[in-house]
Amino acid sequence: MSSHKPQFGLDTIATHAGRNPAAHAGSVNPPVYHASTILFDRMEDYENRRDRFYDGVGYGLYNTPTTLALAEAVAELEDASHCLPVQSGTAAIATTLMAFASSGAHLLVVETAYRTTRNFCEEILRPLGIDITYYDPMLGAAIADLITPATTLVYLESPGSMTFEVQDIPAITEVARRYGVPTAIDASWASPVFLRPLALGVDISIQSGTKYLCGHSDIIFGTVAVRDETLFRRLKDISGRFGHRLGGEDCYMALRGLRTLPLRMQRHQETALRLAEWLAARPEVKQVLHPAFPQHPGHSAWRRDFTGASGLFGVLLHPVPRSAVAAALEGMKLFKMGSSWGGYESLIVPVEAGSKRASGPGQDDGALLRVHAGLETADDLIADLREALVRLVAHAPELAKGGHPPSRAAR
Ligand SMILES: *Cc1c(COP(=O)(O)O)cnc(C)c1O
Repeated sequence: MSSHKPQFGLDTIATHAGRNPAAHAGSVNPPVYHASTILFDRMEDYENRRDRFYDGVGYGLYNTPTTLALAEAVAELEDASHCLPVQSGTAAIATTLMAFASSGAHLLVVETAYRTTRNFCEEILRPLGIDITYYDPMLGAAIADLITPATTLVYLESPGSMTFEVQDIPAITEVARRYGVPTAIDASWASPVFLRPLALGVDISIQSGTKYLCGHSDIIFGTVAVRDETLFRRLKDISGRFGHRLGGEDCYMALRGLRTLPLRMQRHQETALRLAEWLAARPEVKQVLHPAFPQHPGHSAWRRDFTGASGLFGVLLHPVPRSAVAAALEGMKLFKMGSSWGGYESLIVPVEAGSKRASGPGQDDGALLRVHAGLETADDLIADLREALVRLVAHAPELAKGGHPPSRAAR
């Protein structure tokens, strides 16, 4: 496995990590191994095959040379020592939470976590007797007040799902470390290109690889990256007991996708900022939720800890009838409605910020949209948005025009 001291820039890592042409007849890309059974010539090697389950090849459920290539590549991107690829971001999150869900345990989970993460807490963990407290994403060092002797994990997601609040990661990890509580983060929004959570003191970095690592909207996978071998073995054991695994073809697709990750992220960033600034200046728009905007919650933490912003942000429209939003979205030529994000194509969806949150816009504040800026020509995307707003106004004649200061990104 890779050391967690990357000597190369991210573009170089993305290009070279996890490749070993000499081992594969000179082929640039690692081949796809289809393997369940692994054969051994020596009885002793067969008997000791479990030693290979963590970072060698002993049985196809645990590793193949293809899964190891992906693990190595993502570990380098994450500046980690070990990485566990699994079949979805959801499985990566479930594995992580289960690793700390002993009977009577208390988990601190950010209230802006991805909805499925909260569902896992409520539907799986709480009935097992695990206590869960959802905390305000803007809490920072005050997380100390919520830590109890039973707390086994502080779980972060930054920026928050749907509303994009940026957490003070170093403040939280510093406090958690003082209390001996491990930390985990869902860092899918930034991808490893714009955030290296382990370098900020987080113990476990989770990616929904389905999003930017893949980048092409054609596979589902997730990764868990750490710098601690004991922790890695614990996570690998949990995931193995559940039978999680990522198939060889999907590993290959993941590796193919991540080669262009840094390049794509730059363009997602550029285009999203252009769209966000254009939208912020529109009278139909009440607020743009984008970490690069100075008034955004956690903007200073974003500036300090992240090296960029991805293509995903929120747009809060002034209150309009649901039918007006439908008319705006349904006629779009380039932006389409669909779950997920992080692919090369632009998406726009209506979202709910979620109830029981201390921060972010509420249900009465207006219609919340989530935009993913794809790799299309920015001017074409702006034209599509302009026409959508024309349809919105046509279906919401009461929408008052003008009268608010446009906000701008500061980078
Ligand atoms: C999509 C997503 C997930 C879940 O990932 P899957 O690969 O779809 O299981 C987790 N966290 C965040 C922030 C996501 O956007």
